[in-house]
Amino acid sequence: MRSQQDGEILFDPTVTAKTHISECFCIFVNTECLVQIPAYRLHAPGAGRGKETEPITIYTNGSCKNNGKYNATCSSGIWIGEDHPMNRAIRIPRVKQSNQIGELAVVLVALQSTNPLTPVKIVMDSKYVIKGVTTHLKEWEDTGWIGVNNTNMFKAIAYHLCRHPTPTTFKWVKGHQGNIGNEKADQLALTGTLCQEPDKLDTYVPRNFNLQGAKLLMITQKLAYKVIANTANLEYKKTTLSLLDLTRYAIESLTSSLKTDATIWKGCRHKDITKKIQMFLYKTLNNAYHISDFWSQIPTYEHRAICQMCQGETDSMEHILINCRDPVRKMIWDLAKKLWPDRHRPWPTPHIGLILGCGVITLPQRLNNNNANNNRTPTGASHLLRILISESAHLIRTMRCDRTINSTTYTELTATNCWYNTINKRLHLDRAIANKEKRNTKTAMTVKNTWSNIIDNNTLYTQDDWMTNLEVLVGIGLPRPSQTVVTR
Ligand SMILES: [Zn+2]
Repeated sequence: MRSQQDGEILFDPTVTAKTHISECFCIFVNTECLVQIPAYRLHAPGAGRGKETEPITIYTNGSCKNNGKYNATCSSGIWIGEDHPMNRAIRIPRVKQSNQIGELAVVLVALQSTNPLTPVKIVMDSKYVIKGVTTHLKEWEDTGWIGVNNTNMFKAIAYHLCRHPTPTTFKWVKGHQGNIGNEKADQLALTGTLCQEPDKLDTYVPRNFNLQGAKLLMITQKLAYKVIANTANLEYKKTTLSLLDLTRYAIESLTSSLKTDATIWKGCRHKDITKKIQMFLYKTLNNAYHISDFWSQIPTYEHRAICQMCQGETDSMEHILINCRDPVRKMIWDLAKKLWPDRHRPWPTPHIGLILGCGVITLPQRLNNNNANNNRTPTGASHLLRILISESAHLIRTMRCDRTINSTTYTELTATNCWYNTINKRLHLDRAIANKEKRNTKTAMTVKNTWSNIIDNNTLYTQDDWMTNLEVLVGIGLPRPSQTVVTR
């Protein structure tokens, strides 16, 4: 049982308890890792034989520079007292870098460097770690750690906690609130960031402490699916790796922030992007469309690998969206550029990376030269840019499919109308969401900031009531009807 006293939580060292035969059946077991040796704790000597009763209080803290980004650097700090020999600044090895890893690693190092016969009291500001080891551990062990992040770190910590014959307690303190030990550990963590060479981190767990599989009693269909998905071969294709890099650096040139692969994948599902375009971005990143090399390997269909507009050039999604000589393609991007309010920032040059990463675009703060305290975060501008890029790219691809499959011919007028129609649909959708969620003023403000600068100047409606009037459209009217057929 775990007890709480003065905010301290005592770790429960029970490895596992089989109270019913149904708990003995496990699935997803790695049989190669099974051993028959029980997991015993270290033998605790009797009183007066080296076993200490007074706990050592260890303050730990983790830190991560550029957390969540590709160039994240994480480190940790251990502080026990002024000039204490166990005080440490730790630079975490570059396998995975995050704030959570920093917080977990420091607990592991603290346990490894403490005499197992000394009771330990760990004081930290991470509820993630404390709840993980004192509340969730039993459930994670029972469900075979399915879907748990940083499993190897948690397992290693659990191993050291379980083998210590003396009690270990955790205490949470609020960070940056003047707790001296917490502040000192934070300073050491920042020092760790500056270390050139990363420290070695030992996450070894002996087989007898490394529980295998999930208890059949605890498994659900959802958990079983997760295991199957995780065991599938998820290695990226070369083209996907290349597209992820193109995306990363294209977004960096716009936002000065290097995104991780995980952030880019998550960006494909950004709520500003409609479901069908989310699927389009996801499939393009996975090179899942039947274009280019797909056809060149099929006898008698090789000609489909070549762009019909630019004879001699290989077709690809990048070619269709960015490089093709198709005048409709150029026209769509020109329309997007024309609609974009330059006062936010100049319209970015279309790039395949920018399209695939449009969900992670967050424009940097615009500096207000007159008042340094009044810098504006262009939420509306980022929202609009995501919409213009994603909708324009998807429309270009849809028109290309229409032309290739249905032999549809687009005139300058029909193509322009299609584009305005698409953007206006988004305006109406955004407006419907904002009006439906009237109590959510944040959503309404985002919609206002997004569209206010580009709605039709000729409208009779003022800035205050355009949100509720369906007649309001994007742009300054449509161009005059033209009979010019776009040359193909
Ligand atoms: Zn072409």
